[in-house]
Amino acid sequence: MIPISALLPEELAQTLQVSPPYRGRQLFAWIHHRLVFDFNLMSDLPENLRRDLAGRALPVALKQDMKLEDAEGAVKFRFRLLDGSTIESVILQDRRGRKTACLSTQVGCAMGCLFCRTGSLGFGRDLKDHEIVDQYLLLRSLASPDLSSVVFMGMGEPLANLDSLHRAVDVLGYGGFSPRRITLSTCGLVEGIRSLGERKLPVRLAVSLVSADADIRNRLMPIARSNPLPELRRALLEYQEVLGKRITLEIVLMGGINDRSEDVEALVGFVQGRSGQLPLRVLINLIPWNPLPEFSYKRPETRSVEWFQERIKQAGIPVTTRMPRGSAVCGACGQLG
Ligand code: SF4
Repeated sequence: MIPISALLPEELAQTLQVSPPYRGRQLFAWIHHRLVFDFNLMSDLPENLRRDLAGRALPVALKQDMKLEDAEGAVKFRFRLLDGSTIESVILQDRRGRKTACLSTQVGCAMGCLFCRTGSLGFGRDLKDHEIVDQYLLLRSLASPDLSSVVFMGMGEPLANLDSLHRAVDVLGYGGFSPRRITLSTCGLVEGIRSLGERKLPVRLAVSLVSADADIRNRLMPIARSNPLPELRRALLEYQEVLGKRITLEIVLMGGINDRSEDVEALVGFVQGRSGQLPLRVLINLIPWNPLPEFSYKRPETRSVEWFQERIKQAGIPVTTRMPRGSAVCGACGQLG
């Protein structure tokens, strides 16, 4: 069976050897616009073609395995892949009712961040392009056809699977979902950021910085040792020069670990740079730690988060604090898996 969700109309016609070529456009429209994944319901295709395609192609290859919902509109799905592995994808809703799909790019994750449940699972494999597109299609079909944004903040490190991700972004774009509404969140892979800049992919970039203190970052994020802060900063400046976009720096705040005065000063210093260095143009997003029973980290006190935010504001750096969303279904940041 051929998975076909990441094929563009011409490729659909060629790969499936269907003619005339406009059949490719019809198939794409059924799958991506009407969210119909059963060939039998694709009423403008001849009956014999529908039967033939049902025997050899898969509009979506993922199967829903589990669904959890909370009262605030967060919906988490577990999907089973063709090889039996599972991944999770989430829809989160903000106070204004806007919905964001959080998609995965890998089975598990190799980065091993100490504060993240996915990191504790280890690495399974990269997702294929169609497995990324399938999540987007299924979330729209099962939960919300209209999404305001898509974030690649689910399971896995998106920049470690950039070819599949790039393809998925192109397919979403072809289907009418602008890459400008897509955010890719990395733990700070320097080569990946450079490669993203070279591709000039017009998505938004978020970096999970966690701490601008090298010792703390190295301790919490093993990958930081081979991607040290000065190099990361250089890569972000280069990226900014090419793409001209503001970058989001995400700080998962853990009580007593990275919410101290020296942490906020290191963060301000990282953004502003030393004398002679160009400043970074960023938005800082503070994410108070979402508790998990198997981790001993603490959520910081509200007043300590407010104080941290205020100090960043005083330094003239735009800053927001992310409201906890999705934690009731273990669908919030760091809780997937
Ligand atoms: S925070 Fe992201 S990069 Fe780090 S282990 Fe979790 S999923 Fe992987």
